[in-house]
Amino acid sequence: MSKNKTLNFLEQNQRFRNQEVSDMIPQYNETFDFIVISAGTAGAAIAARLSEISEVKILLIEAGFHESFFMDIPTIAPILSLDSNINWNTKLGLPTNTVLV
Ligand SMILES: Cc1cc2nc3c(=O)[nH]c(=O)nc-3n(C[C@H](O)[C@H](O)[C@H](O)COP(=O)(O)OP(=O)(O)OC[C@H]3O[C@@H](n4cnc5c(N)ncnc54)[C@H](O)[C@@H]3O)c2cc1C
Repeated sequence: MSKNKTLNFLEQNQRFRNQEVSDMIPQYNETFDFIVISAGTAGAAIAARLSEISEVKILLIEAGFHESFFMDIPTIAPILSLDSNINWNTKLGLPTNTVLV
């Protein structure tokens, strides 16, 4: 990546971070039209699309903490996976009726 592209990337990243929505705690008895569990790839996309409807009130619940700058660097993923706050070490198993081809 050239120096200019790197600087642009860092600048965009900082701008995005400054716009980040801060954590909010729902008020007691507050009601929502949609509750989206997890702000991962799928949940964040669904919540973002729903938020385009102005009449709709959405609660997005995420268990993890805010991303860090290093999470944007793919080669650092193996190192980050050693952190138990990031890698929850969930083991996936194949369903018993699955056939590998
Ligand atoms: C190192 C790495 C590199 C990858 N690179 C690519 C790539 O280049 N291109 C690509 O297409 N895919 C890539 N993938 C795969 C891609 O990241 C996943 O397929 C995708 O993120 C899955 O989306 P998801 O919404 O199902 O889950 P996730 O994005 O994992 O989201 C799940 C969310 O649920 C939250 N959560 C879990 N439990 C709870 C709970 N009880 N309450 C609330 N929140 C909870 C988690 O904190 C997490 O934020 C990569 C994956 C890894 C690990």
